[in-house]
Amino acid sequence: MNSNQITFNVLDIRRGTTVDGPGLRTSIYLAGCRHACPGCHNPDSWDFNAGSPMTLEEILRVVDDEDFDVTLSGGDPLMHPDTLPILIHAIKERGKNVWVYTGYTIEQIEADPKLWDAVKEADTIVDGPFMRDLRDPDLLFRGSSNQRIIDLHKRRLHTT
Ligand code: SF4
Repeated sequence: MNSNQITFNVLDIRRGTTVDGPGLRTSIYLAGCRHACPGCHNPDSWDFNAGSPMTLEEILRVVDDEDFDVTLSGGDPLMHPDTLPILIHAIKERGKNVWVYTGYTIEQIEADPKLWDAVKEADTIVDGPFMRDLRDPDLLFRGSSNQRIIDLHKRRLHTT
């Protein structure tokens, strides 16, 4: 795929946020989600056409503008398994740490080669659907207690 042709519908970009992972981060929210979690904080993000289209290069320019690590959220970034790995690879090439928020569990991801290939270059995922009954506002970087912060480097060591 020619990188000039790669676009993402971006709901929002926050520079220097502290709520989506450790340290100051550039958080990029990609439109589109089919998990339909009851109590989702932002059902408007489910629409794959929401937000504004940005090319890969435009997104990377924002990443390059800031001396921050990067979080990809949404929506669910893994709803874009063809293009997400290209974005993650380009951010990792810049020497940045990458977190990905997804409504899939790590078990679902590991069982689906396409999902695993899409996210495997990231450093950390926060996995699983938001569950209203398990909501806990005191949790660090997560909305509900079923969600896990998973170091993919350690995960790879255990699975290879
Ligand atoms: S995965 Fe996230 S964006 Fe998607 S429905 Fe669940 S809470 Fe909402």
